[in-house]
Amino acid sequence: MIPEDFQLVKPGEIRVRFAPSPTGYFHIGTARGALFNYLFAQKNQGSFVLRIEDTDKERSSPEFEKDIIEGLKWLGLDWSEGPDVGGAYGPYRQSERTDTYSDYLEKLLVQDKAYYCFCSEDELEAQRQYQMSIGETPRYSGKCSDLPKETVKKYLEEKKPSIIRFRVHQKKIVFKDLIRGELEFDSGLMGDIVIAKDLLTPLYNFSVVVDDFEMKISHVIRGEDHISNTPKQILMQEALGFNRPEYAHLPLILGPDRSKLSKRHGAVSVVSYKKEGYLAEAIVNFISFLGWNPGDEREIYSLPSLVKEFSLEKVQKGGAVFNIKKLDYLNGFYIRKKSPERLAEMCLPYLEESGLVKKENVDLNYLKSIVSIYHERLKKLSEIVELTDFFFREKLEYEKELLRWKEMTDEELKNSLEKLEKIFSKINSGAWTKVNLENALMPKTEKAGDRGILLWPLRVALSGKKSSAGPFEIAEILGKEKTLERLREAKNLL
Ligand code: GLU
Repeated sequence: MIPEDFQLVKPGEIRVRFAPSPTGYFHIGTARGALFNYLFAQKNQGSFVLRIEDTDKERSSPEFEKDIIEGLKWLGLDWSEGPDVGGAYGPYRQSERTDTYSDYLEKLLVQDKAYYCFCSEDELEAQRQYQMSIGETPRYSGKCSDLPKETVKKYLEEKKPSIIRFRVHQKKIVFKDLIRGELEFDSGLMGDIVIAKDLLTPLYNFSVVVDDFEMKISHVIRGEDHISNTPKQILMQEALGFNRPEYAHLPLILGPDRSKLSKRHGAVSVVSYKKEGYLAEAIVNFISFLGWNPGDEREIYSLPSLVKEFSLEKVQKGGAVFNIKKLDYLNGFYIRKKSPERLAEMCLPYLEESGLVKKENVDLNYLKSIVSIYHERLKKLSEIVELTDFFFREKLEYEKELLRWKEMTDEELKNSLEKLEKIFSKINSGAWTKVNLENALMPKTEKAGDRGILLWPLRVALSGKKSSAGPFEIAEILGKEKTLERLREAKNLL
């Protein structure tokens, strides 16, 4: 237990929170929110708190919480307080904080700042319909706001279904958003808001207010979709005598067609980007630009350089467009920065999963040379399977027609393959290098008039593919024996 007067937070200390609801996978938009909070905390030597907002029992699941935590860890957005690591203001999972919420709910009820409402769903719906029909903004009529105490007591004893509403008085709520400037709301349009289903079941707007206060949050940085919640939360802070944190609402993320980003645009779980072979560095770099930019032409930012450059002043108000091509470009860039050894290690799980190699008997040097020839063109690690499978297969499956260059006849094709076999047989295994192979073959291709007559069937015989890396690079890696074997197998197809 922390003593009442214990002051861990120094005046002016920056404390931010990332507060996801585990009601869905950790997707790009959520990750952007986490990143900006993380950067703001790091930049200001503040604390980055992870809070799991699982008050919605039906929609929350441990599976989603796990996905969020896995995604954050993978991106390297480490938190200093959270459900797994604890901290002075825990617990950090809302479902474990029920007692705290009910204390504050009781306080509001006792002070008559909140009241029980017994209106039925049907009744409320009819009211909404009516208000809309006469062109009014739907809001609660206030029917239960002044029920006599005895009536409330009686209804509660009878277990008449009820919820708890917060009394909203008409006033102007003004706050300064660090991104959007001064914002003004009229609380008169809200009506009395539902803050809990009962003493043990608080709703989002209420639990957030309590937690931001109890966890001494100095800055609330979250998506623009929460902007209409902010005035409600401010009213509750005022009613409970809490101080107000600073607010910053991040712009919406839009698809390339400028509609709100959805699955259709590739807004899938961050973990599934990982599975596809995007690197954490690329994702971090990419999402940092979703609404922020350094104000110059630089595009490449590692997490530490983002910490240095980041500021909320450079976050834009307008929607941020999600462009997967940019992500692919960044991913290719970070892949090229890896050493061949590291890249081979990173590609291994993809090859294993496809069943092409077994970890126990993989030759890492062999793998490294294979991966190296695709280092420049790889955009996602998962592409390695499709690009290099022929190195790992005993026998290649392809159509004979693929071997044919232009209008070559079967006879000419056979000649080419025999010629290739003859030329390569003369090269010793010890001298079996790309350069030697090339030097031996290229003069012959010039003589043939059309290089494709020898080079095309060679490449297809070795790879079984319409497009691949160059034939000499492939042959060098396959080695003499395998190269000659594949040339013979090609001939057998004719
Ligand atoms: N739990 C909310 C959400 O996932 C965020 C709450 C907040 O940042 O205030 O949308």
